[in-house]
Amino acid sequence: MPRKIIKERVPTPERPPEERVKDFREVNLGYTFELAVKEAERCLNCPIDYAPCVKGCPVGIRIPEFISKLVQYRDDPDRAVKEALSVIWACNSLPAITGRVCPQEEQCEMNCVMGRVGDKINIGKLERFVADYSREKGIDVQLLEEGARGIKKNGRKVAIIGAGPAGLTCAAELAKLGYEVTIFEALHKPGGVLIYGIPEFRLPKVIVERELENLRRLGVRIETNVLVGKTVTFEELREEYDAIFIGTGAGTPRIYPWPGVNLNGVYSANEFLTRVNLMKAYEFPEYDTPIKIGENVAVIGAGNTAMDAARSALRLGAKVWILYRRTRAEMSAREEEIHHAEEEGVNFMFLVSPKRFIGDENGNLKAIELEKMELGEPDESGRRRPVPTGETITMEFDTAIIAIGQTPNRTFLETVPELEVDEKGRIKVDENLMSSVPGVFAGGDAIRGEATVILAMGDGKKAAKAIHEYLSGS
Ligand SMILES: Cc1cc2nc3c(=O)[nH]c(=O)nc-3n(C[C@H](O)[C@H](O)[C@H](O)COP(=O)(O)OP(=O)(O)OC[C@H]3O[C@@H](n4cnc5c(N)ncnc54)[C@H](O)[C@@H]3O)c2cc1C
Ligand code: SF4
Repeated sequence: MPRKIIKERVPTPERPPEERVKDFREVNLGYTFELAVKEAERCLNCPIDYAPCVKGCPVGIRIPEFISKLVQYRDDPDRAVKEALSVIWACNSLPAITGRVCPQEEQCEMNCVMGRVGDKINIGKLERFVADYSREKGIDVQLLEEGARGIKKNGRKVAIIGAGPAGLTCAAELAKLGYEVTIFEALHKPGGVLIYGIPEFRLPKVIVERELENLRRLGVRIETNVLVGKTVTFEELREEYDAIFIGTGAGTPRIYPWPGVNLNGVYSANEFLTRVNLMKAYEFPEYDTPIKIGENVAVIGAGNTAMDAARSALRLGAKVWILYRRTRAEMSAREEEIHHAEEEGVNFMFLVSPKRFIGDENGNLKAIELEKMELGEPDESGRRRPVPTGETITMEFDTAIIAIGQTPNRTFLETVPELEVDEKGRIKVDENLMSSVPGVFAGGDAIRGEATVILAMGDGKKAAKAIHEYLSGS
Protein backbone atom coordinates (compact mmCIF):
# COMPACT_ATOMS: atom_id res chain seq x y z
CA MET A 1 0.00 0.00 0.00
CA PRO A 2 1.52 3.41 -0.90
CA ARG A 3 2.40 5.38 2.21
CA LYS A 4 0.57 8.57 3.06
CA ILE A 5 2.56 11.72 2.31
CA ILE A 6 2.58 14.20 5.18
CA LYS A 7 3.35 17.56 3.60
CA GLU A 8 3.87 19.74 6.65
CA ARG A 9 6.96 19.69 8.79
CA VAL A 10 6.46 19.06 12.51
CA PRO A 11 7.54 22.37 14.07
CA THR A 12 10.06 22.54 16.92
CA PRO A 13 8.96 24.63 19.89
CA GLU A 14 10.80 27.94 20.36
CA ARG A 15 10.87 30.42 23.22
CA PRO A 16 8.88 33.59 22.38
CA PRO A 17 11.06 36.56 21.30
CA GLU A 18 9.92 38.89 24.09
CA GLU A 19 11.00 36.32 26.71
CA ARG A 20 14.25 35.12 25.11
CA VAL A 21 15.81 38.55 24.48
CA LYS A 22 16.11 38.95 28.23
CA ASP A 23 18.61 36.12 28.69
CA PHE A 24 21.21 33.97 26.91
CA ARG A 25 19.34 30.66 27.18
CA GLU A 26 18.72 28.57 24.06
CA VAL A 27 16.05 29.85 21.66
CA ASN A 28 14.97 26.61 20.00
CA LEU A 29 13.81 23.90 22.39
CA GLY A 30 14.12 20.94 20.01
CA TYR A 31 11.85 17.90 19.49
CA THR A 32 10.47 15.55 22.12
CA PHE A 33 10.60 11.83 21.21
CA GLU A 34 6.95 11.88 20.08
CA LEU A 35 7.50 14.90 17.83
CA ALA A 36 10.74 13.44 16.45
CA VAL A 37 8.97 10.19 15.51
CA LYS A 38 6.18 12.17 13.84
CA GLU A 39 8.72 14.08 11.74
CA ALA A 40 10.75 10.90 11.05
CA GLU A 41 7.58 9.23 9.69
CA ARG A 42 7.44 11.85 6.92
CA CYS A 43 10.79 10.68 5.47
CA LEU A 44 10.35 8.59 2.32
CA ASN A 45 13.41 6.53 3.25
CA CYS A 46 15.01 6.90 -0.17
CA PRO A 47 17.50 4.12 -1.09
CA ILE A 48 20.83 5.01 0.52
CA ASP A 49 22.86 5.06 -2.73
CA TYR A 50 20.44 7.49 -4.26
CA ALA A 51 19.22 9.60 -1.32
CA PRO A 52 20.02 13.21 -2.26
CA CYS A 53 20.18 14.25 1.41
CA VAL A 54 23.21 11.99 1.96
CA LYS A 55 24.96 13.50 -1.05
CA GLY A 56 24.36 16.97 0.39
CA CYS A 57 26.01 16.12 3.74
CA PRO A 58 29.74 17.00 3.74
CA VAL A 59 30.51 14.04 6.01
CA GLY A 60 28.05 11.65 4.32
CA ILE A 61 25.79 10.73 7.28
CA ARG A 62 23.47 7.85 6.26
CA ILE A 63 20.45 10.05 6.89
CA PRO A 64 17.49 7.81 5.93
CA GLU A 65 19.06 5.00 7.95
CA PHE A 66 19.26 7.00 11.20
CA ILE A 67 15.80 8.52 10.66
CA SER A 68 14.22 5.12 10.05
CA LYS A 69 15.59 3.77 13.38
CA LEU A 70 13.39 6.29 15.21
CA VAL A 71 10.30 4.89 13.48
CA GLN A 72 11.34 1.23 13.61
CA TYR A 73 11.91 1.23 17.40
CA ARG A 74 9.24 3.77 18.27
CA ASP A 75 8.02 1.58 21.14
CA ASP A 76 11.44 1.60 22.77
CA PRO A 77 12.77 5.20 22.71
CA ASP A 78 16.16 4.36 24.30
CA ARG A 79 16.85 1.65 21.75
CA ALA A 80 15.63 3.85 18.87
CA VAL A 81 17.99 6.63 19.89
CA LYS A 82 20.93 4.32 20.53
CA GLU A 83 20.59 2.75 17.08
CA ALA A 84 20.19 6.16 15.44
CA LEU A 85 23.20 7.61 17.29
CA SER A 86 25.41 4.75 16.28
CA VAL A 87 24.51 5.37 12.59
CA ILE A 88 25.28 9.09 12.97
CA TRP A 89 28.51 8.55 14.92
CA ALA A 90 29.90 6.35 12.16
CA CYS A 91 30.26 9.57 10.14
CA ASN A 92 29.95 12.52 12.52
CA SER A 93 31.35 12.74 16.05
CA LEU A 94 29.69 16.06 17.04
CA PRO A 95 25.96 15.73 16.15
CA ALA A 96 24.61 17.90 19.00
CA ILE A 97 26.67 20.71 17.51
CA THR A 98 26.11 20.17 13.79
CA GLY A 99 22.38 19.57 14.38
CA ARG A 100 22.29 23.12 15.76
CA VAL A 101 24.68 25.16 13.64
CA CYS A 102 24.90 23.57 10.17
CA PRO A 103 23.28 25.50 7.31
CA GLN A 104 21.11 22.43 6.53
CA GLU A 105 19.05 24.46 4.06
CA GLU A 106 22.14 24.57 1.79
CA GLN A 107 23.28 21.01 2.48
CA CYS A 108 21.37 17.83 3.37
CA GLU A 109 17.93 19.45 3.34
CA MET A 110 18.49 21.35 0.11
CA ASN A 111 17.76 18.43 -2.19
CA CYS A 112 15.37 16.43 0.01
CA VAL A 113 12.80 14.94 -2.38
CA MET A 114 9.95 15.80 -0.02
CA GLY A 115 10.51 19.39 -1.13
CA ARG A 116 8.72 18.55 -4.41
CA VAL A 117 5.42 17.92 -2.63
CA GLY A 118 5.71 19.75 0.67
CA ASP A 119 8.21 20.75 3.38
CA LYS A 120 11.64 19.15 3.37
CA ILE A 121 12.43 16.77 6.22
CA ASN A 122 13.81 18.58 9.27
CA ILE A 123 17.05 16.57 9.26
CA GLY A 124 19.05 18.99 11.43
CA LYS A 125 16.52 18.99 14.24
CA LEU A 126 16.22 15.18 14.09
CA GLU A 127 20.00 14.85 14.36
CA ARG A 128 19.98 17.29 17.26
CA PHE A 129 17.18 15.33 18.96
CA VAL A 130 19.14 12.07 18.79
CA ALA A 131 22.24 13.71 20.26
CA ASP A 132 20.32 15.55 23.01
CA TYR A 133 18.22 12.56 24.09
CA SER A 134 21.27 10.31 24.21
CA ARG A 135 23.16 12.87 26.29
CA GLU A 136 20.26 13.25 28.74
CA LYS A 137 19.95 9.46 29.11
CA GLY A 138 23.69 8.67 29.10
CA ILE A 139 23.27 6.61 25.93
CA ASP A 140 26.27 8.36 24.33
CA VAL A 141 28.57 7.30 27.21
CA GLN A 142 27.23 3.75 27.09
CA LEU A 143 27.86 3.52 23.35
CA LEU A 144 31.33 5.03 23.68
CA GLU A 145 32.32 2.63 26.42
CA GLU A 146 31.16 -0.33 24.36
CA GLY A 147 33.16 0.96 21.37
CA ALA A 148 36.21 2.10 23.35
CA ARG A 149 36.76 -1.41 24.64
CA GLY A 150 37.52 -2.41 21.07
CA ILE A 151 40.24 0.23 20.50
CA LYS A 152 43.74 -1.24 20.22
CA LYS A 153 46.56 1.28 20.79
CA ASN A 154 49.15 1.26 18.00
CA GLY A 155 51.92 3.14 19.85
CA ARG A 156 52.03 6.04 17.40
CA LYS A 157 51.65 9.67 18.46
CA VAL A 158 49.89 12.51 16.65
CA ALA A 159 49.82 16.19 17.69
CA ILE A 160 46.87 18.39 16.79
CA ILE A 161 47.21 22.16 16.87
CA GLY A 162 43.92 23.90 17.65
CA ALA A 163 40.84 22.50 19.41
CA GLY A 164 38.14 23.76 17.02
CA PRO A 165 35.81 21.42 15.10
CA ALA A 166 38.58 20.46 12.63
CA GLY A 167 41.08 19.49 15.34
CA LEU A 168 38.48 17.78 17.55
CA THR A 169 37.17 15.64 14.69
CA CYS A 170 40.65 14.68 13.51
CA ALA A 171 41.51 13.72 17.10
CA ALA A 172 38.37 11.57 17.52
CA GLU A 173 38.96 9.67 14.29
CA LEU A 174 42.65 9.03 15.07
CA ALA A 175 41.89 7.92 18.62
CA LYS A 176 39.41 5.36 17.22
CA LEU A 177 42.23 4.04 15.03
CA GLY A 178 44.44 3.53 18.10
CA TYR A 179 46.69 6.62 17.95
CA GLU A 180 47.84 8.46 21.03
CA VAL A 181 46.49 11.93 20.31
CA THR A 182 47.31 15.23 22.05
CA ILE A 183 45.55 18.47 21.15
CA PHE A 184 47.35 21.76 21.87
CA GLU A 185 45.04 24.72 22.32
CA ALA A 186 46.07 28.36 22.85
CA LEU A 187 42.97 29.44 24.83
CA HIS A 188 42.08 28.25 28.33
CA LYS A 189 39.09 26.29 26.99
CA PRO A 190 38.90 23.96 23.97
CA GLY A 191 36.19 24.27 21.29
CA GLY A 192 37.44 27.07 19.01
CA VAL A 193 34.61 29.16 17.58
CA LEU A 194 32.10 26.77 19.19
CA ILE A 195 33.15 28.05 22.60
CA TYR A 196 34.28 31.65 22.02
CA GLY A 197 32.25 32.69 18.96
CA ILE A 198 28.80 31.08 18.74
CA PRO A 199 26.65 32.34 21.62
CA GLU A 200 24.97 30.29 24.30
CA PHE A 201 21.47 31.04 22.92
CA ARG A 202 22.36 29.09 19.74
CA LEU A 203 24.75 26.52 21.16
CA PRO A 204 24.74 25.97 24.93
CA LYS A 205 28.26 25.48 26.23
CA VAL A 206 27.32 22.44 28.34
CA ILE A 207 26.71 20.66 25.04
CA VAL A 208 30.15 21.51 23.69
CA GLU A 209 31.66 20.44 27.00
CA ARG A 210 29.88 17.08 26.87
CA GLU A 211 31.19 16.43 23.36
CA LEU A 212 34.67 17.23 24.73
CA GLU A 213 34.20 14.80 27.64
CA ASN A 214 33.31 12.12 25.11
CA LEU A 215 36.51 12.85 23.27
CA ARG A 216 38.49 12.43 26.47
CA ARG A 217 36.69 9.13 27.01
CA LEU A 218 38.19 8.02 23.70
CA GLY A 219 41.61 8.73 25.23
CA VAL A 220 42.36 12.11 23.59
CA ARG A 221 44.48 14.50 25.72
CA ILE A 222 43.77 18.21 25.48
CA GLU A 223 46.42 20.67 26.66
CA THR A 224 45.07 24.20 26.96
CA ASN A 225 47.00 27.48 27.33
CA VAL A 226 49.56 26.23 24.80
CA LEU A 227 50.20 28.64 21.95
CA VAL A 228 52.16 26.61 19.43
CA GLY A 229 54.92 28.78 18.02
CA LYS A 230 55.51 30.31 21.43
CA THR A 231 54.77 27.99 24.40
CA VAL A 232 56.17 25.08 22.39
CA THR A 233 57.75 25.37 18.97
CA PHE A 234 56.55 23.60 15.89
CA GLU A 235 59.98 21.90 15.65
CA GLU A 236 59.61 20.47 19.17
CA LEU A 237 56.28 18.95 18.16
CA ARG A 238 57.82 17.52 14.99
CA GLU A 239 60.52 15.79 16.99
CA GLU A 240 58.12 14.24 19.46
CA TYR A 241 55.21 13.26 17.21
CA ASP A 242 54.87 10.97 14.18
CA ALA A 243 52.47 13.37 12.43
CA ILE A 244 50.85 16.76 12.99
CA PHE A 245 47.45 18.19 12.07
CA ILE A 246 47.04 21.98 11.96
CA GLY A 247 43.50 23.18 12.70
CA THR A 248 44.23 26.72 13.83
CA GLY A 249 41.21 28.30 12.14
CA ALA A 250 40.81 31.86 10.89
CA GLY A 251 40.62 33.92 14.05
CA THR A 252 42.18 37.23 13.01
CA PRO A 253 39.50 39.90 12.51
CA ARG A 254 39.49 41.74 9.22
CA ILE A 255 39.36 45.47 9.99
CA TYR A 256 39.12 48.02 7.21
CA PRO A 257 41.21 51.14 7.98
CA TRP A 258 38.25 53.54 8.20
CA PRO A 259 39.08 56.91 9.78
CA GLY A 260 38.11 56.78 13.48
CA VAL A 261 38.12 52.97 13.70
CA ASN A 262 40.25 53.17 16.88
CA LEU A 263 37.71 55.24 18.83
CA ASN A 264 36.44 53.90 22.16
CA GLY A 265 33.29 51.89 21.63
CA VAL A 266 34.42 50.27 18.37
CA TYR A 267 34.96 46.51 18.76
CA SER A 268 35.91 43.70 16.43
CA ALA A 269 33.16 41.04 16.57
CA ASN A 270 35.85 38.62 17.69
CA GLU A 271 36.64 40.66 20.82
CA PHE A 272 32.99 41.41 21.54
CA LEU A 273 31.91 37.76 21.23
CA THR A 274 34.94 36.42 23.13
CA ARG A 275 34.14 38.71 26.04
CA VAL A 276 30.47 37.76 25.99
CA ASN A 277 30.77 34.00 25.33
CA LEU A 278 34.11 32.77 26.57
CA MET A 279 34.53 35.20 29.46
CA LYS A 280 30.78 35.36 30.27
CA ALA A 281 30.87 39.17 30.46
CA TYR A 282 27.06 39.17 30.39
CA GLU A 283 27.24 37.85 33.94
CA PHE A 284 29.62 40.62 35.08
CA PRO A 285 30.40 41.20 38.02
CA GLU A 286 29.83 37.51 38.88
CA TYR A 287 32.46 36.84 36.17
CA ASP A 288 35.21 39.45 36.22
CA THR A 289 35.45 40.38 32.51
CA PRO A 290 33.52 43.58 31.78
CA ILE A 291 31.76 44.55 28.57
CA LYS A 292 30.92 48.16 27.85
CA ILE A 293 27.94 48.65 25.63
CA GLY A 294 26.01 51.78 24.78
CA GLU A 295 22.35 52.34 23.91
CA ASN A 296 22.66 52.35 20.13
CA VAL A 297 24.81 49.66 18.58
CA ALA A 298 25.82 49.36 14.92
CA VAL A 299 26.95 45.98 13.65
CA ILE A 300 28.82 46.18 10.35
CA GLY A 301 28.40 43.01 8.24
CA ALA A 302 25.73 40.39 7.57
CA GLY A 303 27.21 36.93 8.15
CA ASN A 304 26.64 34.57 11.09
CA THR A 305 29.18 36.53 13.12
CA ALA A 306 27.29 39.78 12.59
CA MET A 307 23.99 38.12 13.53
CA ASP A 308 25.52 36.63 16.71
CA ALA A 309 27.03 39.98 17.70
CA ALA A 310 23.75 41.82 17.05
CA ARG A 311 21.63 39.36 19.01
CA SER A 312 24.13 39.35 21.90
CA ALA A 313 24.13 43.17 22.03
CA LEU A 314 20.33 43.11 22.08
CA ARG A 315 20.44 40.80 25.10
CA LEU A 316 22.74 43.27 26.86
CA GLY A 317 19.92 45.83 26.57
CA ALA A 318 20.92 47.88 23.49
CA LYS A 319 19.01 48.97 20.38
CA VAL A 320 20.79 47.32 17.47
CA TRP A 321 21.20 48.03 13.76
CA ILE A 322 22.78 45.72 11.21
CA LEU A 323 24.43 47.90 8.57
CA TYR A 324 25.07 46.00 5.34
CA ARG A 325 26.46 47.21 2.04
CA ARG A 326 24.36 44.83 -0.06
CA THR A 327 20.69 43.75 0.31
CA ARG A 328 18.91 41.06 2.31
CA ALA A 329 19.16 38.61 -0.60
CA GLU A 330 23.00 38.65 -0.43
CA MET A 331 23.29 38.15 3.35
CA SER A 332 25.47 35.13 4.11
CA ALA A 333 24.05 34.35 7.58
CA ARG A 334 21.80 31.31 7.98
CA GLU A 335 18.15 31.99 7.19
CA GLU A 336 17.06 30.74 10.62
CA GLU A 337 19.40 33.22 12.35
CA ILE A 338 18.24 36.17 10.23
CA HIS A 339 14.65 35.24 11.00
CA HIS A 340 15.38 35.01 14.74
CA ALA A 341 17.20 38.37 14.68
CA GLU A 342 14.23 40.00 12.92
CA GLU A 343 11.77 38.49 15.40
CA GLU A 344 13.87 39.76 18.31
CA GLY A 345 13.84 43.34 17.03
CA VAL A 346 17.25 43.82 15.37
CA ASN A 347 16.93 46.66 12.80
CA PHE A 348 18.37 46.17 9.31
CA MET A 349 19.71 48.89 7.06
CA PHE A 350 20.79 47.78 3.60
CA LEU A 351 23.00 49.36 0.91
CA VAL A 352 25.10 51.40 3.34
CA SER A 353 28.82 51.22 4.15
CA PRO A 354 30.79 53.18 6.79
CA LYS A 355 32.84 56.09 5.47
CA ARG A 356 34.20 57.22 8.84
CA PHE A 357 33.61 56.83 12.57
CA ILE A 358 33.06 60.14 14.36
CA GLY A 359 34.17 60.68 17.98
CA ASP A 360 33.49 63.20 20.74
CA GLU A 361 36.15 65.23 22.57
CA ASN A 362 36.92 62.25 24.86
CA GLY A 363 37.64 59.87 21.99
CA ASN A 364 34.34 57.98 22.34
CA LEU A 365 32.29 56.99 19.29
CA LYS A 366 29.24 59.23 18.78
CA ALA A 367 28.22 58.73 15.13
CA ILE A 368 29.00 56.92 11.89
CA GLU A 369 29.00 58.56 8.50
CA LEU A 370 27.57 56.06 6.04
CA GLU A 371 27.81 56.04 2.28
CA LYS A 372 24.74 54.86 0.38
CA MET A 373 25.46 52.04 -2.10
CA GLU A 374 23.77 50.47 -5.12
CA LEU A 375 24.28 47.04 -6.62
CA GLY A 376 26.46 46.65 -9.72
CA GLU A 377 27.79 43.64 -11.63
CA PRO A 378 28.38 40.27 -9.85
CA ASP A 379 31.85 39.89 -8.24
CA GLU A 380 33.98 36.71 -7.84
CA SER A 381 31.58 35.46 -5.10
CA GLY A 382 28.71 35.61 -7.63
CA ARG A 383 26.93 38.28 -5.58
CA ARG A 384 26.26 41.71 -7.05
CA ARG A 385 29.02 44.14 -6.12
CA PRO A 386 28.08 47.16 -3.96
CA VAL A 387 28.98 50.42 -5.70
CA PRO A 388 29.19 53.77 -3.81
CA THR A 389 26.62 56.38 -4.90
CA GLY A 390 28.48 59.38 -3.39
CA GLU A 391 25.47 60.17 -1.17
CA THR A 392 26.07 59.99 2.61
CA ILE A 393 24.04 60.00 5.82
CA THR A 394 25.21 60.27 9.43
CA MET A 395 23.64 58.21 12.21
CA GLU A 396 24.29 58.42 15.95
CA PHE A 397 25.82 55.33 17.57
CA ASP A 398 27.79 54.88 20.79
CA THR A 399 29.00 51.34 20.00
CA ALA A 400 30.06 49.68 16.75
CA ILE A 401 30.94 46.04 16.18
CA ILE A 402 32.88 45.18 13.05
CA ALA A 403 31.97 41.80 11.58
CA ILE A 404 33.29 41.92 8.03
CA GLY A 405 35.26 38.69 8.15
CA GLN A 406 38.21 36.87 9.68
CA THR A 407 41.48 35.54 8.24
CA PRO A 408 44.03 32.92 9.37
CA ASN A 409 46.46 34.02 12.07
CA ARG A 410 49.84 34.73 10.47
CA THR A 411 51.78 34.90 13.77
CA PHE A 412 51.91 31.12 14.07
CA LEU A 413 52.36 30.52 10.34
CA GLU A 414 55.36 32.83 10.23
CA THR A 415 57.18 30.65 12.78
CA VAL A 416 57.14 27.83 10.23
CA PRO A 417 58.66 29.35 7.07
CA GLU A 418 58.72 26.02 5.22
CA LEU A 419 54.90 25.84 5.44
CA GLU A 420 53.53 27.22 2.19
CA VAL A 421 50.55 29.57 2.41
CA ASP A 422 48.62 31.42 -0.29
CA GLU A 423 48.19 35.18 -0.60
CA LYS A 424 45.28 35.11 1.90
CA GLY A 425 47.36 33.29 4.53
CA ARG A 426 45.61 29.93 3.97
CA ILE A 427 47.83 26.86 4.33
CA LYS A 428 48.33 25.14 0.96
CA VAL A 429 47.50 21.41 0.99
CA ASP A 430 47.37 18.56 -1.54
CA GLU A 431 44.33 16.33 -2.21
CA ASN A 432 45.13 14.36 0.99
CA LEU A 433 45.28 17.59 3.02
CA MET A 434 49.07 17.25 3.44
CA SER A 435 50.90 20.57 3.57
CA SER A 436 54.25 21.39 1.96
CA VAL A 437 55.91 19.81 5.04
CA PRO A 438 55.80 15.98 4.85
CA GLY A 439 53.77 14.43 7.68
CA VAL A 440 52.09 17.75 8.48
CA PHE A 441 48.43 17.96 7.52
CA ALA A 442 45.95 20.85 7.80
CA GLY A 443 42.22 21.49 7.53
CA GLY A 444 39.25 23.68 8.44
CA ASP A 445 39.33 27.47 8.27
CA ALA A 446 43.17 27.36 8.28
CA ILE A 447 43.05 26.07 4.67
CA ARG A 448 39.70 27.47 3.52
CA GLY A 449 39.47 30.84 5.23
CA GLU A 450 36.17 31.39 7.03
CA ALA A 451 33.86 28.48 6.20
CA THR A 452 31.57 26.21 8.23
CA VAL A 453 31.72 23.82 11.16
CA ILE A 454 30.83 20.79 9.08
CA LEU A 455 33.44 21.54 6.40
CA ALA A 456 36.06 21.85 9.15
CA MET A 457 34.88 18.51 10.56
CA GLY A 458 34.93 16.92 7.11
CA ASP A 459 38.55 18.04 6.73
CA GLY A 460 39.47 16.70 10.16
CA LYS A 461 38.03 13.35 9.21
CA LYS A 462 39.69 13.21 5.81
CA ALA A 463 43.06 14.23 7.30
CA ALA A 464 42.80 11.50 9.97
CA LYS A 465 42.36 8.90 7.22
CA ALA A 466 45.29 10.36 5.28
CA ILE A 467 47.50 10.45 8.41
CA HIS A 468 46.66 6.80 9.06
CA GLU A 469 47.57 5.88 5.48
CA TYR A 470 50.77 7.95 5.67
CA LEU A 471 51.92 6.36 8.93
CA SER A 472 50.88 2.81 8.15
CA GLY A 473 52.30 3.04 4.60
CA SER A 474 49.04 1.80 3.08
C1 LIG B 1 30.64 34.13 15.48
C2 LIG B 1 30.70 32.99 14.51
C3 LIG B 1 29.54 32.29 14.22
C4 LIG B 1 29.56 31.21 13.34
N1 LIG B 1 28.41 30.52 13.11
C5 LIG B 1 28.46 29.40 12.32
C6 LIG B 1 27.29 28.60 12.11
O1 LIG B 1 26.20 28.92 12.59
N2 LIG B 1 27.40 27.48 11.36
C7 LIG B 1 28.59 27.10 10.83
O2 LIG B 1 28.65 26.04 10.20
N3 LIG B 1 29.71 27.85 10.97
C8 LIG B 1 29.67 28.99 11.71
N4 LIG B 1 30.80 29.74 11.87
C9 LIG B 1 32.05 29.29 11.21
C10 LIG B 1 32.67 28.13 11.99
O3 LIG B 1 32.60 28.36 13.37
C11 LIG B 1 34.11 27.88 11.55
O4 LIG B 1 34.11 27.61 10.16
C12 LIG B 1 34.72 26.67 12.27
O5 LIG B 1 34.72 26.87 13.67
C13 LIG B 1 36.14 26.40 11.80
O6 LIG B 1 36.70 25.36 12.57
P1 LIG B 1 38.27 25.22 12.78
O7 LIG B 1 38.44 24.01 13.64
O8 LIG B 1 38.94 25.24 11.45
O9 LIG B 1 38.73 26.54 13.53
P2 LIG B 1 38.33 27.27 14.89
O10 LIG B 1 36.96 26.93 15.34
O11 LIG B 1 38.65 28.70 14.65
O12 LIG B 1 39.35 26.68 15.94
C14 LIG B 1 40.74 26.95 15.87
C15 LIG B 1 41.36 26.77 17.25
O13 LIG B 1 42.78 26.82 17.11
C16 LIG B 1 43.32 27.55 18.18
N5 LIG B 1 44.63 28.04 17.77
C17 LIG B 1 44.91 28.96 16.81
N6 LIG B 1 46.26 29.13 16.71
C18 LIG B 1 46.83 28.30 17.63
C19 LIG B 1 48.17 28.02 18.00
N7 LIG B 1 49.20 28.61 17.41
N8 LIG B 1 48.39 27.12 18.99
C20 LIG B 1 47.35 26.49 19.60
N9 LIG B 1 46.06 26.72 19.27
C21 LIG B 1 45.80 27.60 18.30
C22 LIG B 1 42.28 28.65 18.42
O14 LIG B 1 42.40 29.19 19.72
C23 LIG B 1 40.98 27.88 18.22
O15 LIG B 1 40.51 27.30 19.42
C24 LIG B 1 30.79 30.83 12.72
C25 LIG B 1 31.96 31.56 12.98
C26 LIG B 1 31.92 32.63 13.86
C27 LIG B 1 33.20 33.40 14.14
S1 SF4 C 1 15.89 12.91 0.60
FE1 SF4 C 1 14.40 13.53 2.19
S2 SF4 C 1 12.81 11.97 2.02
FE2 SF4 C 1 14.59 11.11 0.98
S3 SF4 C 1 15.71 9.96 2.57
FE3 SF4 C 1 16.57 12.02 2.55
S4 SF4 C 1 15.41 13.07 4.16
FE4 SF4 C 1 14.20 11.25 3.64
